Formats: sequence, structure tokens, C-alpha cells
Amino acid sequence: MKDNFIGGEWRTGIASRRNINPSDLDDVVGEYAQADAGQACSAIEAAREAQRTWRNDGIQARANALDCIGSELLARQSELGTLLSREEGKTLVEGSAEVARAGQIFKFFAGEVVRTGGERLPSVRPQVDVEITREPVGVVGIITPWNFPVAIPAWKIAPALAYGNSVVFKPADLVPGSAWALAEIIARSGIPRGVFNLVMGRGSVVGNAIVTSPEIDAVSFTGSVDTGRELLLQGARQFKRMQLEMGGKNPLVVLDDADLEVAIECAIQGAYYSTGQRCTASSRFIVQKGIYARFVSRLGEALAGLHVGHALDPLTEIGPVVDAAQMDQDLAYIKIGKSEGAELAYGGAPVSRSTRGYFLAPALFTDATPKMRIAREEIFGPIACAIPVDSYEEALAVANDSEFGLSSGICTTSLKHATHFKRHVRSGMTMVNVPTAGVDYHVPFGGTKASSHGPREQGTYAVDFFTTVKTAYTKA
Ligand code: ADP
Repeated sequence: MKDNFIGGEWRTGIASRRNINPSDLDDVVGEYAQADAGQACSAIEAAREAQRTWRNDGIQARANALDCIGSELLARQSELGTLLSREEGKTLVEGSAEVARAGQIFKFFAGEVVRTGGERLPSVRPQVDVEITREPVGVVGIITPWNFPVAIPAWKIAPALAYGNSVVFKPADLVPGSAWALAEIIARSGIPRGVFNLVMGRGSVVGNAIVTSPEIDAVSFTGSVDTGRELLLQGARQFKRMQLEMGGKNPLVVLDDADLEVAIECAIQGAYYSTGQRCTASSRFIVQKGIYARFVSRLGEALAGLHVGHALDPLTEIGPVVDAAQMDQDLAYIKIGKSEGAELAYGGAPVSRSTRGYFLAPALFTDATPKMRIAREEIFGPIACAIPVDSYEEALAVANDSEFGLSSGICTTSLKHATHFKRHVRSGMTMVNVPTAGVDYHVPFGGTKASSHGPREQGTYAVDFFTTVKTAYTKA
């Protein structure tokens, strides 16, 4: 049994949860403690108590701790990547790359700790100086989803600790293994008791206790739009600082002048890798009519060549869907797409393998229209639709016709269209001739419209959420 980490101690939960491998339902990854609201409150109290000294502790101690966490993640990349792939279902290559990324994020913020600066300005009043400094926000609640079980916790926890906050971390129920392994590393990094706490458990219980506690100053959340909206409303009642990363319906525009192989690579990588279970996944291919037939036929061939299977099989390119509920949702959207009149050109049916798992053949709908539900709603599976358009202008209009605005992409050899697209597409991240999913760890991540709320995550911009600014006036 893997326990929760509260106030510097490993504590048994009030119940436990079995972690099942989606590639092999007979494989139990482990048993993990489930906290209740009372234990969540103990964690919050411990974090509050620890905050009194941690916020003023030497920055070298913080830098050392983050560096040590980053080093251990990198050293154990293969072992932790295997655990991640086993519990979440992304391939070994993807799982171990994610662990490396988490390590790099901790290393990045280890450096940022000692770079946090302020400003000193002359006052408009004589003999007065003005200093602007950054202080920790306080106690931060971190609530994460299942699709990046190590990287998303890392990109929230690392800056939270770097800037002197204490943390109460609630991972997604489906992936406690990676979260627990990360917590165990953090627990040995030399940070004081109570600065970091892990409380595994239900969103409606533990997550809710975090969001409604008056002792939590800020919440950083990644998950669904509906939960994010609810959390934002709850947080607003207490004027909490809120950072939300939610869904996407990311467009990949392919113009007639695109390099076809580049477009296919972007489509396969962006829409289907990680089983399409990424908020930055391309799910709408918006394709100009001159290249449409070639794009669709070449993409169908490429999909047929992809190996769907057990995440730990080195030959696998597309792992299983994460659980039964997600599989049901994916299959429901396959039905919806057909009933709306789109053509299911490839995939979309469960496939059987030697183990019992949630394997789904990656699906491509063709002749979709922008008004169809499969072109508007986030599916979160290996399913994308191709929408034919006449011109670049129409492609841009369709790309922007979405409640979401996380990532976007264009495949073109035209500098004019690439430049115009970067300026006018309404998304927080945009890609030219590279997939919509797959981002660097040292630059901002986030979107517009219903995709994100609050300051950007990652890179140097993370400081804006995890610190508060103080302006001090001094007369000598
Ligand atoms: P997903 O579809 O990715 O599971 P959710 O929004 O349901 O997205 O979950 C994202 C995270 O939010 C998970 O850690 C989940 O447990 C948590 N969560 C779900 N409901 C609530 C809630 N009412 N209050 C706080 N956290 C919640």
C-alpha cells in the first residue's frame, strides 16, 4: 500500500484504490491510499504551518532541493517511464520522455530560484525610493489530470516550491503511481516537513476540500472545462488565485502548398500519438481542396501502418485508451460522427490483443463540416476529422470557430500565410510545420477562451501565478 504524505509523514488513508494497467486489465500496478476531507485539511494545515518559515528560507536550499529532485527523475527515467506507461497507457518512448521532461522542469526552476529579481525605481516624490519585489502566494493547491501523470504535476509543483510556496498536491485518481513516485522523491529532497504534501483521493472529496479551504491561497488545476468552471466559481467566493488549463479542439490547417509528408507527420504525431489523449492534440484537420484527396488517402495509409497495442511492447506506437469510461466516450463520438453524416474513412473500432486492454484503432472522419459535434467538442481520444475548405481565409475562419483556443497549427510553405496565421489565429500556442502537441519545457504553455484561465504556466512566465508583487516606498 502506498500512503499519503502529510506534514512530513506517510499516513494511511481511509480507503484504498487499485491501480489497473489499461494495456492489461489483469495487471494490478499497486494499491494506493485514498484520503478523506479531514486528511486533506491536515495536509493544508501542515502546509500553512510550514509556510511561515519556508517562504523566508534561503533560496539556495530551495534551488538545491529542486535540483536534487530533477537529477533523480533524470537518473530514474527508464524505471519511472515504465511505471507511467504501465498505469496510463502511453508508449514506453512517450512515458520515459515525459519523465525526462519532468526532470528538466525541476532543473529549470532550480535555476530560476536564484534569478527571481525585483525592481528599484526613483519615486515621483523627492527622496523616496520605490522597490518592487516578489513574494510567495502562500499555500497552493495543485490538482492534476491523468494524461500527463508526471509532467503536469512537475510543471506546477516545481515553480510553486521554487518561489517559496508550500504545496498540497492531489493527483488524478487513475494515475496515483507516478504521483506517488514523484512525491517520494520530493519527500527525500531535503525540503522541510509540511512544505509538500500528497493527498490522493476523489476530486469531489479531496479536490473539493482543497478548493473550498480558506487556508488555500491559490489553486492550479488542469482538467476538464466543466470541473474547471466549477472550481473557478468556488475559488472566486474566497478571492483565491486560480490557474486553470482545460480542453482544446486544436486545428491543424493544411494548405495546398504544404509539403505533404510534413503535413502527414504533423497529423499523425499531433492527433494520434499518446492515443490522442492530450489537450493539445490536433482533432480538426482543416484541409484546402487542392491537397485534400492526397492528404486523406496518405493519412489513411499512415494510420494503417501504426501499431496499436500494449504500452510496454517496444513496437507499439499507439497505446490503449486510459479506461472504460474514456473508451465509451470515444465510441460514442464514433457513432455521433457517423450519424452526423461524416464518413468514417479509417479505424474507430476496438481491437483485440493478447492482453485484455482498451485498444482502439485510430480513427479518421472525412468530409466533416465545422458545425458537426465531432468538429466542435473535445473527444480526448485517437479520433480526428478532416474538413475540406476552399481557401486560406476560410481555413483561418474555421480554425477560429471554436470555444477553445489552446494550440493550433498550419502546414504551408508560404511565408505570407504562415505569418498571417501566427498573427490571427486565436490560440495561446501556434505551430508552423510542427505538430500542435509536443511543447518545450522552458517557454509558456496555455491558451485562450475556454482552454485556459489565469496566468501562463511554465518557463519564466510561471512566476506571475506563483508570486505576488509587493511595492515598497522608502524615504531615507
Ligand atoms: P479528467 O476528464 O481529465 O478526469 P476532471 O476535470 O474530471 O478531468 O479531473 C481533473 C482533476 O480534477 C482530477 O484530479 C480530479 O480528481 C479533480 N476533480 C474532479 N472533480 C473535482 C471537484 N469537484 N473539485 C476539485 N477537484 C476535482
